[in-house]
Amino acid sequence: MSDPFTEHKKLVIIGAGFGGIGMAARLVQSGERDFVLLEKSDGVGGTWWVNRYPGCACDVPSHLYSFSFAPNPNWSRRFAPRHEIQAYLEQCVRQFNLNGHLHLNRAVRTLRWDDRHRHWQIADQHGQTITADFVISAIGGLSRPGWPDIPGMQSFGGQVIHSQLWHGEDLKNQRVAVIGTGASAVQFVPQIAHEAKQLTIFQRTPNWILPRPDQAISSARKKRFARWPWLQKLARFGIWLIAECRVPGLMWSNRLAWGHRLLARRHLRRQIPNPELRKKLTPDYAIGCKRVLLSSDYYPALMRTNVELIDTPIACIEPDAVVDASGRRHTIDMLILATGFRATEPVPRGMIIGRDDQDLHQTWREGPQAYRGTNVTGFPNLFMLLGPNTALGHNSVVVMIEAQIDYTLKALEYMQQNQLVSMDIQPEAQRRYNDRLQRKLARSVWNTGSCGSWYLHPQSGLNTTLWPGFTWQYRWLMRRFRWKDFEFDSEF
Ligand code: NAP
Repeated sequence: MSDPFTEHKKLVIIGAGFGGIGMAARLVQSGERDFVLLEKSDGVGGTWWVNRYPGCACDVPSHLYSFSFAPNPNWSRRFAPRHEIQAYLEQCVRQFNLNGHLHLNRAVRTLRWDDRHRHWQIADQHGQTITADFVISAIGGLSRPGWPDIPGMQSFGGQVIHSQLWHGEDLKNQRVAVIGTGASAVQFVPQIAHEAKQLTIFQRTPNWILPRPDQAISSARKKRFARWPWLQKLARFGIWLIAECRVPGLMWSNRLAWGHRLLARRHLRRQIPNPELRKKLTPDYAIGCKRVLLSSDYYPALMRTNVELIDTPIACIEPDAVVDASGRRHTIDMLILATGFRATEPVPRGMIIGRDDQDLHQTWREGPQAYRGTNVTGFPNLFMLLGPNTALGHNSVVVMIEAQIDYTLKALEYMQQNQLVSMDIQPEAQRRYNDRLQRKLARSVWNTGSCGSWYLHPQSGLNTTLWPGFTWQYRWLMRRFRWKDFEFDSEF
């Protein structure tokens, strides 16, 4: 039989979000040209291309939520809106001449390791195929929408949309229900509250919410940053340092987060004068256990006469209503799901097949696990950006992504210098690394703070998403490629 895999590249990068574009840019900087960047959407940006709900923005200041090697002096606001972040990534594609490497509308369906040829076989949704010595997966941990399993969901007769799949829906004169009150909901609720005829918000767990200190960046400041880049670097460093100061309250003792707790309580008191509503919105778990939200307009939106917050659990959904556990029917025309993502199940079944036909989905059934969040035993020559336990509850993930990119470049350099064709992390090294990680996480507020969150795997209860510490600790860990922890093959 003839080999259907005709095109071969040294590297294939999957996903053109922060991870994929950052990796591609740094490859170009290092002189590497033999790679392609495959993106399933028809534009670049990853999460910032896909998520289009009103009010979508980043809750990490933009001067830190951007690449250290591609500073942008022109951010319009402290917290840039979605379209500006997406435009920044497009600008990076131009700046680093990535267009020739970028292939849009190419959704990778399967990645299969070929042990005989020691390369990956990659097939996309069009049936097109390619082989590669190395694959860098930058598909992100929050790209698969989480659909709630509520009785009667299928019977609903109106429109159902997930926050990630928003297409400019018209909410005028509609009675709308929103399920979920996490990071996405607090951004779009204030935007749609004045548009919908009636907005009913179903809250399962209240969140700790801090004021969002957003502001426009003056043109004088932008000019200063453009003229003296070190000034912008200093600003970035300051934002990073302040964010790092949150770690003790998350990792050492939650009592150290007293400042944020006071600030959040005062914010709630000031914005919600109604004691009954305030009670519904008061969390009963440790601050930081779930992601702390930033919003200055969510609470005021809940005070509107056309908005109602329901904290009674949902019993079922009927063709024209949501019925809560008290038996009350909330008649609606449209349902918006702000129910988050399948963060603990980031890889679909059958997508990544490693040595001995191992399906990564199956390997991770007790929760995703990797070595340094980047390599997985049995999946040679595969690097993951934002893999297991590299998400953050306190700082910019771009800092983590850059650490992983640098690490991957070092690993590739080592392979090339030593004329090696494949590398696989030793099972014992991966186990040791994760045992240590889980021991640290066991003491953290995410595991002990008496809340449920997407950080924890629903079956094993393990925290498979967050990095347990300061970002500098991760950078320090990733400063060297520890070849002793890997098995290598040098010849066919
Ligand atoms: P999320 O934070 O996971 O929130 C999901 C919400 O849906 C929660 O309120 C959850 O309640 C509720 N929910 C889930 N299943 C439910 C069910 N069956 N019945 C009733 N309620 C249900 O999701 P998200 O808001 O989309 O945010 C996810 C993550 O994306 C964030 O944590 C963040 O990392 C990222 N994000 C970032 C930004 C940013 O500005 N950087 C913005 C948006 C999102 P419980 O709390 O009780 O589980």
